[in-house]
Amino acid sequence: MIKYLLKCKHCEQEFESWFSSSNEYDRLLKLKLLNCQSCESINVEKSLMSPNLLNTKKKENSKEIKKYREIRKKLSDYKKFVKDNFEYVGENFTYKARSIHYDKKKPKKGIYGSASLKDVKELREEGIKTDIIPWIEDDKN
Ligand SMILES: [Zn+2]
Repeated sequence: MIKYLLKCKHCEQEFESWFSSSNEYDRLLKLKLLNCQSCESINVEKSLMSPNLLNTKKKENSKEIKKYREIRKKLSDYKKFVKDNFEYVGENFTYKARSIHYDKKKPKKGIYGSASLKDVKELREEGIKTDIIPWIEDDKN
């Protein structure tokens, strides 16, 4: 047995009805044997979502949004930490990283900037400790 929420397209009345299977519903609909309980119109269709299903989905979504916000907050804190404690060298990252490594200079701060994955791989192969971190854009609001 299957329960469907049906809606009358004529008077907008919603009502529940039991069927032995979804096939039976299709069959009755085709034979025009489904009619509205209040106005008897045969212009009846299956409602897309039961109210129950809608609520469950809403709950899941807000959970995901909450998780997304938490991760974003962490990444944002991480970004702030890097900005406060590292020197930004932009596109010169690969060059700067090498000069620090090979010239044995001891900078006061670590550096951060942008580099391609290929550059990072090469730096690592040369024994230069390089980390890739996720970098998020600041919130615009
Ligand atoms: Zn009706």
